[in-house]
Amino acid sequence: MHFEATVRAELLLELGKRNGVELPAATVEGLHRYYEVGSFEQFISRWIATSRALCRADDFRRVVVDYARRAKAQGCVYIEGICSPTEPVLRGSSWEEVFEGYCDGAAEARERHGVEVRLTPDVTRDFPAALGIRLARRAVRYRERGVVALSLGGSEKKHAPQKFRKAFAIAREGGLGSAPHAGEFAGGKAGAASVRGALDVLHADRIRHGIRAVDDPALLAELAERGVVCDVTPVSNLRTGAVASLDEHPLPAMLAAGVKCSIGSDDPVIMRTDLAENCAAAVKLGHTPKAMYFDALHGALCDDSTKARLRRIGEEFDWGSG
Ligand SMILES: [Zn+2]
Repeated sequence: MHFEATVRAELLLELGKRNGVELPAATVEGLHRYYEVGSFEQFISRWIATSRALCRADDFRRVVVDYARRAKAQGCVYIEGICSPTEPVLRGSSWEEVFEGYCDGAAEARERHGVEVRLTPDVTRDFPAALGIRLARRAVRYRERGVVALSLGGSEKKHAPQKFRKAFAIAREGGLGSAPHAGEFAGGKAGAASVRGALDVLHADRIRHGIRAVDDPALLAELAERGVVCDVTPVSNLRTGAVASLDEHPLPAMLAAGVKCSIGSDDPVIMRTDLAENCAAAVKLGHTPKAMYFDALHGALCDDSTKARLRRIGEEFDWGSG
């Protein structure tokens, strides 16, 4: 899940007003209408237009704490979320403001809501590789404050993972994991080749989406064998047109091949969905709540003691028939 896409319309309007940033709509209803998207390109334009309102450390902190509260209400106990520091830095915020804000938010989310938050800052494929390297170096410095991995997002069809080999090597040498987007879409440089690049070049510990791995049975088998978890977001895939209908979603084929799949909401507010709706869609596709919990735990990049605590929560929970 991307923190920038979790911001409630009310909070977004408040932050935009405070920071003097004009938003595409001036009311909650107007923003909700603006979020009615049907393609990845439309989604990206909305993401850029609305995340402009986040500028100061306090903004990033509030976004994390506010989302943790809502996620907790849906049963969430651990969030390994994506944040995108490069965009606000290019607009004039400092790296420190962004990282400090997100990290403060993670600490406050635990204190106030009991939700563990870890961060995976996102390198944007559309930007020069040198910016990815700068982000990776900053991310390593915040390892003790909740940053656990480097992510990779943006236009998968246009930019192959190879472009960011060095950024991910810096992250790895600094003790961070690798959790890139790959195989969300088919076509161009995306698809199974993108998943292959994420594994071989970026040494992915976990893959965001990964659904196009189903086009390459050997790759799918390798994901299963290596225990590389895919973060699957069925409703988001529908909203961006990555799949034409839920019936055509690759999740059942991934599960049948033995791939561990966590379930997330990707961009809940901009895509007018939430964690519960994505989990319900995954259940329709044959996943079970218990399996999605333990698959997610398998891929979690937090410290061992947090993982042990999360394991206990899962073992003690009454999953009923699921
Ligand atoms: Zn994403």
